Amino acid sequence: MFLEQEATASVPALPEVHSGISSFLLEKAQNAKVGVFEGRTKPVRERQRLPVVPQGIERDEFLAALDELKAQLGGEFVEVNDKPLRDGWYMEHPNTHDMMTILDEEELVASAVVYPSTTEEVQQIVLWANKYLIPIFPISMGRNLGYGGAAPRVRGSVTIDLGKRMNKILDINSEDYTCLLEPGVSFYALYEALKEKGYDHMWIDTPDLGGGSVLGNTLDRGVGYTPYGDHWACHAGLEVVLPTGEVIRTGMGALPENNTWQTFPYGFGPYSDGIFSQSNFGIVTKMGMTLMPNPGGYESFMYTFQNEEDLGPLMEIIRPLRIGMILENVAQVRHIAQTIAVRGHPRSKFYQGSGPIPDEVLHAAAVESPVGDHTWAYYGMSYGPPHIRAYKLAIVDAEFRKIPGAKKVDPKSLPEDEYFWSRDRIAAGIPDIHELRWVNWTPNGAHIAFSPVSPIRSADAMKLFDMGKKLHHQYGIDFFPAFCVGLREMHLIVEIVFDRDDAERKKAAMDCLRDMIDQAAALGYGEYRTHLVLMDQVAGTYSWGDGALMKFNERLKDALDPNGILAPGKSGIWPKRYRGRGWEMSRESGPVSEGKGVAPPEAPNHS
Ligand code: ADP
Repeated sequence: MFLEQEATASVPALPEVHSGISSFLLEKAQNAKVGVFEGRTKPVRERQRLPVVPQGIERDEFLAALDELKAQLGGEFVEVNDKPLRDGWYMEHPNTHDMMTILDEEELVASAVVYPSTTEEVQQIVLWANKYLIPIFPISMGRNLGYGGAAPRVRGSVTIDLGKRMNKILDINSEDYTCLLEPGVSFYALYEALKEKGYDHMWIDTPDLGGGSVLGNTLDRGVGYTPYGDHWACHAGLEVVLPTGEVIRTGMGALPENNTWQTFPYGFGPYSDGIFSQSNFGIVTKMGMTLMPNPGGYESFMYTFQNEEDLGPLMEIIRPLRIGMILENVAQVRHIAQTIAVRGHPRSKFYQGSGPIPDEVLHAAAVESPVGDHTWAYYGMSYGPPHIRAYKLAIVDAEFRKIPGAKKVDPKSLPEDEYFWSRDRIAAGIPDIHELRWVNWTPNGAHIAFSPVSPIRSADAMKLFDMGKKLHHQYGIDFFPAFCVGLREMHLIVEIVFDRDDAERKKAAMDCLRDMIDQAAALGYGEYRTHLVLMDQVAGTYSWGDGALMKFNERLKDALDPNGILAPGKSGIWPKRYRGRGWEMSRESGPVSEGKGVAPPEAPNHS
């Protein structure tokens, strides 16, 4: 019954709902929703593990503390998380838990969600958390799917949903090509705002799906696909509430009444922004972002390569072209398995057997597709007026054709709904919702990512590819590798798609991920980002100098957050109250996310 209600509700749209979709994508979103719910068998279950109260505080004291917060923020802006957990789907995502959970669905859950409307209210929440020693976890949009969604790392944390009421575009500067944003501004919303103002001379940069917030995605060091694809490198200036309640502005933001906050990211003195990304050192309430000038024309291109082994020589060709900016954007080299899956059909349409889908089946499906048979597809874009593009594209063509069997796909031969056109829009800064479709591959489709970084080299690509493929086969999982080529490095993104209502498949996915992380580290590769449940393991691989970096992070954590209230465990950084009590998740700890208690307060806090 619950499920039916969810399936039939209409998709929220901008500008009514801050997390809604652009009107030009509404129909597409509605169709995507049908696909998602067709494959959904997981019911909305009654809660088994209520109430959720964070460790270190008694239930009654916790409820009284929530009442105090209600009195400060207004009753309707503090919600206890005691209702059945609705997973929703991408456009109607929950802020209470990870909708794509790899653990028991009630493991990584918030005890309550609060909705501040101003930086001052965020400060109040932080002071409140310090007073009662309650863990808090900030989200902007909470669509960090594949990495934990909206879930907190510590069960029972109070989630601060910043996006719901702090979602203003505070400034768009059409001369400097910059903007200043609150946490709840999605890529869809920023795109719409530029269109509405008629600012065609500026582009945004968007990830594959545009529903995340610009601020949250940037803090997590997400990427997009124009030349401005490295979001963190393109931001300029933060406003941050520290874990002890003070507010700072970074870079030029520290100089009163200046007009360079969004144009010069560094200011004077140590550059502090870095410690607020992928960290638990502060809550960002404003962020500056640079916008790309409209290049005056663009043209997508796609090449296919026949054999799996072509990956190696292809990387050797890509590297100098990418570093030399002949290949201008964060481009993708995708494997046929993902190309077939992104058509949006369930795997059972192609194959009913167990174990990984055989290569022959994938190739047979590719033969039937408009792109034709291949193993690797390169999606790129050339920018600028026609004569500039022609110069660059001729070089690319001559180089790519050195690989026997390389084919240039004629975009005119591709139907309107072909995935190519989604990559085309995204590389032109137009957000989309197409990418989601491969989640329909399994019933109750969820995904979790393995994302190691390597140089753009044949040997590195092949080592990672072979290792990933072998382990996927060992665990009977379909292998979906995509190489996202940055400037001097590439992120290999391997999305494991699993049935989140199937405990055995979830365990296989976790075991496979843990093996990939360890084996990649043994080969010298580390992840650029990871899911909440894998953060301890990944942080452990960055162990040079007897874990010198983690010791430094812990020192910062203890200095900035002496009570350890802000996002404990995020990126594997545990505050001292939690350390040595078994909170780290590892292969041995299995699906358990909680440790045994927290240290009592060192001094009375209730003054
Ligand atoms: P998105 O907006 O892309 O959906 P999320 O809101 O899910 O991203 O956040 C992504 C990650 O960044 C999470 O780990 C979250 O804790 C962190 N984060 C998000 N917003 C903030 C913020 N304003 N301050 C500090 N950390 C944040």
